[in-house]
Amino acid sequence: PVNARDLAAWVRYAAELVSADAERLTRLDAAIGDGDHGLNLDRGFRAAVDALPDGAPPGKVLIAAGRAIVSKTGGASGPLYGTVLRRAGKALGDADDVDAAALGAALKAALDGVQELGKAVEGDKTMVDALAPAVAAFAAALADGTGLAGCVRAAADAAAEGADATVPMRARKGRASYLGERSEGHMDPGASSTALLLRALAEVAG
Ligand code: ADP
Ligand code: MG
Ligand code: MG
Repeated sequence: PVNARDLAAWVRYAAELVSADAERLTRLDAAIGDGDHGLNLDRGFRAAVDALPDGAPPGKVLIAAGRAIVSKTGGASGPLYGTVLRRAGKALGDADDVDAAALGAALKAALDGVQELGKAVEGDKTMVDALAPAVAAFAAALADGTGLAGCVRAAADAAAEGADATVPMRARKGRASYLGERSEGHMDPGASSTALLLRALAEVAG
């Protein structure tokens, strides 16, 4: 299982990876959006690190981080990633230890929240194209009897593949959709950042 310290470590590590990759994410967004995705996430995750509570259960850690992201991150991705963290945190409840099944359920709750808020389905060229396969891969690994670390690795791998698969897609949601067919041939920045966040989780869980 993972605990509050592990999830706080995830937020910190995610913030480091986002900061190191901010330029690349912003470049992806410059191709099909307004070129601020790396900047938005960097600001949001810095705020999330600052908001990490002491002595709170895992669910509360994620909720606090999610709130900070919503309040500090501009653009579409702020409310969406804030929803990811808050929904996942809510799903964890007040438990001190998070086992594989609970983490899988939290990931699924996060996906449901993003889809309720943003109305994107798979194939629309958004973060959903990384998150949905990650949720499915986690569930499949769990059903095979894989342990928590293996489930998270499977989810992270699926998210990376999902992000790669957005390259040929035409965007149907978000700013990139204004470009129509000119959005084809570029990776979706939000799908790429989702893959990054899950890779960070795999490192921390592993
Ligand atoms: P903005 O486009 O407002 O500048 P960002 O650049 O930070 O915000 O984030 C863009 C990313 O947000 C996109 O690459 C996409 O993955 C994601 N996104 C945008 N709209 C939606 C939506 N309706 N549902 C899911 N994800 C979305
Ligand atoms: Mg943008
Ligand atoms: Mg913007």
